[in-house]
Amino acid sequence: MQRMSEDAIRCDACPVLCYIKPGRTGACDRYGNRDGQLVRLDPHVVLDRARSRGDSVVPFLDAEREWDGSIVKGPETFITAIGAGTTYPDYKPAPFIISSEVEGVDMVTVVTEGIFSYCGVKVKIDTDRHLGPERNLVRVKGEPVGHVTTSEYGSQMLSLGGVRHLTGGSRNEGNVTCETLLDLCNGKAADLEIDDGATVTVQADKPPIVNGALEERMRVGCGSATIGMFAKQWFGKIDEVVVVDDHITGVLSEHQAGKMLEVPETGIKLKGRRSTPGRYFKVAEPGTAWGGTNITDPLSILAPFDANVAWKGLRLLMVSTTGEHYAYYELDDTLQPREVELPAELRVSVERIKENCEPALCSVLFMGGAGGSLRAGVTENPVKLTRSVRESLTRVTCGGAPVYVWPGGGITLMVDVSRMPQNAFGYVPTPALVAPIEFTLRLADYGALGGYVERIRPVASLLEDNGRVRVSPRPENPWPLPSHGGKPKP
Ligand code: SF4
Repeated sequence: MQRMSEDAIRCDACPVLCYIKPGRTGACDRYGNRDGQLVRLDPHVVLDRARSRGDSVVPFLDAEREWDGSIVKGPETFITAIGAGTTYPDYKPAPFIISSEVEGVDMVTVVTEGIFSYCGVKVKIDTDRHLGPERNLVRVKGEPVGHVTTSEYGSQMLSLGGVRHLTGGSRNEGNVTCETLLDLCNGKAADLEIDDGATVTVQADKPPIVNGALEERMRVGCGSATIGMFAKQWFGKIDEVVVVDDHITGVLSEHQAGKMLEVPETGIKLKGRRSTPGRYFKVAEPGTAWGGTNITDPLSILAPFDANVAWKGLRLLMVSTTGEHYAYYELDDTLQPREVELPAELRVSVERIKENCEPALCSVLFMGGAGGSLRAGVTENPVKLTRSVRESLTRVTCGGAPVYVWPGGGITLMVDVSRMPQNAFGYVPTPALVAPIEFTLRLADYGALGGYVERIRPVASLLEDNGRVRVSPRPENPWPLPSHGGKPKP
C-alpha cells in the first residue's frame, strides 16, 4: 500500500494500482480504503472441522488452545485463500504463510488469491440434445467467450474463457468473458448462445435449460448400448425395437444382443450409415428432438420394410435414449407402420429406460495455470515449487477443495467449483479471474525449496484477528491438510 495524497491510498495488490479515497473501493470491489487503511473487504474464510461435526462453536483460540507456542497442534482449522488477498508484484511473499502440525510433522500452508489471466472453465452439460457444431463460438451478450468442444458420453462440452478471449479480443469481449467466468465459478447462472445452435442456461450443479426447456435426465447410453441393456426385457414381447440416437442408433433384430437371443429378422431398413450389425450412424441431423437428432417423426428414419421378410401385424417400438420419446407401431396389410397405443408390458421397459437415466446436471471445472506471481510468492526459486508439486511433496487445494494437476510442465490445475466454498472467486479489471489457491507441504521441504521461512506465522496468530469467518468443510472433500505429514505414499 502506498499513500498518494492526504486522503487517497494506492492499492498495489494487482497491476491496476487503483487510487482509493476514504470510504471507497477499488475497481474490483475487493479492496477498500477504511479510515486510511487498505483492507480486503470480503471475509477471510477458514474451514472448521468442529462445525461440520456439530460441536459447539468456540472461539478460535479456545479451539486451538493446545498450541505450543510455535506450531499449532490440532489441524482442526484450515486457512483457505478465500479473502486472503494477493501480493504484487511477483517477488513479494504470499499474504499468509502458516504453520501447523499434522500427526507430529510440522507443515506449512502458503495461501494467496491468485490472479489468473490464463484460465477458463470446462463445462459438461448432461444432455443428448445438440447444442451446436463442434468449434462453433459460444457467446454472451453477443461477445465470443468460448467454443463448443468434443462431446462426451451423454454430455455436451464447452470450453469457455482462456487468455485469448480475456486479453486477445476487444475490451468488451474480455470484460464479458471475465464476467461470465466469474458468474459460473461462483455458482451463478450464465445464459449462453451458440452460433448455429441452441441457447443454454448453465449453472454449476443444476440442470441445464436448453432453448427454454429444463433438461431432466441424461441418456442411459447410446442407442446400441440401450439395445444391449434392455434386449432381454423386450424379448418375446415385441418383434423389433429401434433406439433412436444422434450418434449410434440401435436395431434389436440386427444387433448382437438380438442375435444371441435369436430374435428373427424383421426386414426393417434404416436410413443412415450402417456401422456394425444393428448399429447405424447419422440416421438424421443433430438437433434437440428424438435422441439428440432433429427428427420429430421417428418413421422418417425408416425405409420401406423388406416385403419378403416383414409380416402384417409386426410389432415395432421406437424409443429415444432417455425414454422421453417413444412410439409403438404395428404393420398393416401393406407393411406400413400404424401407430397404436403402447401395451402396458412395453410401457414398463420405457419406464425402465427413464429410470436408468441419471439426473441431468451442469458441471463447471475451473482450469488455470499457476504462473509467476503465484509461484514466486511461495519460493524465491519457483521451479522448485513446480517440481515439489510434481513429486507430490506439495498438496495443492483451491479453497480447501482437491484439485487435479495436469502432467507435464507448469502447475496447470482443474477444480470442481461446486466443491469450493461459495463466492470463492473474484476478478480484477485487467481482466483476469482471482481464484484462491493453497500450497501445503512439510516445513523441512518448504525450507529446502527456498521458501520464505522467515515469514511463517502460526495459525493462532491469524485466528486472533476479527474479519474471518468459519465454514464447515464440504463432506465430500478430503481434509486439505494431508495425513501422515504429507509424506508421499510408497
Ligand atoms: S483492481 Fe482491486 S486489487 Fe487491483 S489495484 Fe484495484 S483495488 Fe487493488
